[in-house]
Amino acid sequence: MRGRGERLAHLLEGRDVDVLLVTQLSNVRYLTGFGGTNGACICGPDTQVFLTDFRYTERAEAEVDGWEVITVEGDWLKGIAEHVSDTARVGFEDDHVSVRTHGRLGEAVGPGVELCGCSGLVEGLRRVKDAGELAAIAAAAELADEAYRVAIEPGLAGRTERSVAFTAEQFMREHDAEPSFPSIVAGGPNGALPHAEPGEREIAEGDLVVFDMGAQLDGYCSDCTRTFAAGDPSEDARAVYEIVLRAQTAALEAVRSGVDGKALDAVARDVIEEAGYGDRFGHGLGHGVGLEVHEGPRVSSRSTDTIESGEVVTIEPGIYIPGELGVRIEDLVVVEHDGHKNLSGLDKTLTIV
Ligand code: ZN
Ligand code: ZN
Repeated sequence: MRGRGERLAHLLEGRDVDVLLVTQLSNVRYLTGFGGTNGACICGPDTQVFLTDFRYTERAEAEVDGWEVITVEGDWLKGIAEHVSDTARVGFEDDHVSVRTHGRLGEAVGPGVELCGCSGLVEGLRRVKDAGELAAIAAAAELADEAYRVAIEPGLAGRTERSVAFTAEQFMREHDAEPSFPSIVAGGPNGALPHAEPGEREIAEGDLVVFDMGAQLDGYCSDCTRTFAAGDPSEDARAVYEIVLRAQTAALEAVRSGVDGKALDAVARDVIEEAGYGDRFGHGLGHGVGLEVHEGPRVSSRSTDTIESGEVVTIEPGIYIPGELGVRIEDLVVVEHDGHKNLSGLDKTLTIV
């Protein structure tokens, strides 16, 4: 984690604050390496302090690299305040701190210290991954691919969505990982709900089944969607699948450093619109993935982000026909100077399970 605090301190110069109090846990982890559930850090040109409570002292000493580790005894916010009391302007992550906590922190630091809303800085640093992070995400993606293979191996028709999801998640947990978000296994009409929860519905012969799953391994997430057929699908279902695959392939081909998130979204959206399903693709094309399964950059029609080399994004167009079926295909890719590297290793020709 060395060097990340220095880069953040450098960014603070442009924000007119003396130090930044970082409380969002993924940001804390990114900066310090700490993987526990209670930690904060204070970062400035001459300050790199990590704070936790007694439960995590030992863990912090093992994990935190390059930061002074402080164990706060007693009131947490007062403990933080002690370390910024001689600072005039303290930035805090106003997109993560509740109004109540902000009020209590203000009281704890006293009238001589100004708290300044200052969000998004660490998230900005997190967008471009270093080699270690890329390796961690690739390992998570590989494990999730294996979980997919294990889950579909016995066939799909006749099994409940929930039991299929359980098989995949159990595999992840047996391999020191956990799901990076609640897995989706959605058969037939349930596939038309982009955030369906796996239920007791038995998958029927001929259903298209949307799987959306990822693993979190050593803190880093993966994210992958495949749509399988449980037995021979209808001609219409096949046709929809081929449109989504064409849209996804076209967008993948357009991924490279310097492309706008909005333009990338449009590449896939155009294919789906031309096929007559423009109003059936109701979400953005993709998102960044890292310590969190949804992070920057945004890849959607409302994105203002430009995609850069070293970022990891999903490309996941879909078509959803209410009451009938859904198709979504999602790969996780590393953006490169002149293209991309695909971290999702599962076949995308329509697989009949
Ligand atoms: Zn996904
Ligand atoms: Zn996704």
